[in-house]
Amino acid sequence: MGQTLWACVICLFCAPAWCQQDIVDVLWRSQDQRLQAQAPAEADSAAAATLRRSFDSLLKTMQPAPVVELRVTRGPLLAETLQGHIIVANESLAALPEPARLFILAHELGHVVQQHWLRTALLYQKWVPGAVTPAQTDPVAASLTREASALAHEHEFAADAFAAQRLQVLGIDRQELLAIFFQLGVVHDSATHPGTRKRMASLRARGFAAER
Ligand SMILES: [Zn+2]
Repeated sequence: MGQTLWACVICLFCAPAWCQQDIVDVLWRSQDQRLQAQAPAEADSAAAATLRRSFDSLLKTMQPAPVVELRVTRGPLLAETLQGHIIVANESLAALPEPARLFILAHELGHVVQQHWLRTALLYQKWVPGAVTPAQTDPVAASLTREASALAHEHEFAADAFAAQRLQVLGIDRQELLAIFFQLGVVHDSATHPGTRKRMASLRARGFAAER
């Protein structure tokens, strides 16, 4: 998320009307734009029904039930949690084997219940406590970007661990968890996401994934 947010902050320098907003307003608006950009799937499609069934089976394992909304979409985005409680999930997830679909949805639920949106907002607010202006943001840009990236990676590992735990509750074993990562394909590190190798290592360190 960090890169997107920072790009948005930079954009604001061209939008004087927003300059008196604080950084959390900016984050919220940025995520609102991402939400509005998602095309909804047909509400009664078989794919949407499959996703909602998987999602409901996860929610049944969670006490208390989290405040969360699932939006099934079409387009390039696979899955993301926005504004802390809205999970956007692509209808193409319906074509995955059930354990892989459960893992992706449970990962996003992890972001919700572990309040990653709030923690991210607090980090940005720490570095940009007042109005968003170049004078405020320029001197801290490098430090904020570095910390936001580290926090985003930490959140990914934590969401994976949460997902692995949910899958265990549903009876999906450690070997299957390893298979899920292979089905999803190998991804390299980015500013916001650790790559597959680090995610698997993190799960192994927490005792979730089987050894190769
Ligand atoms: Zn994530």
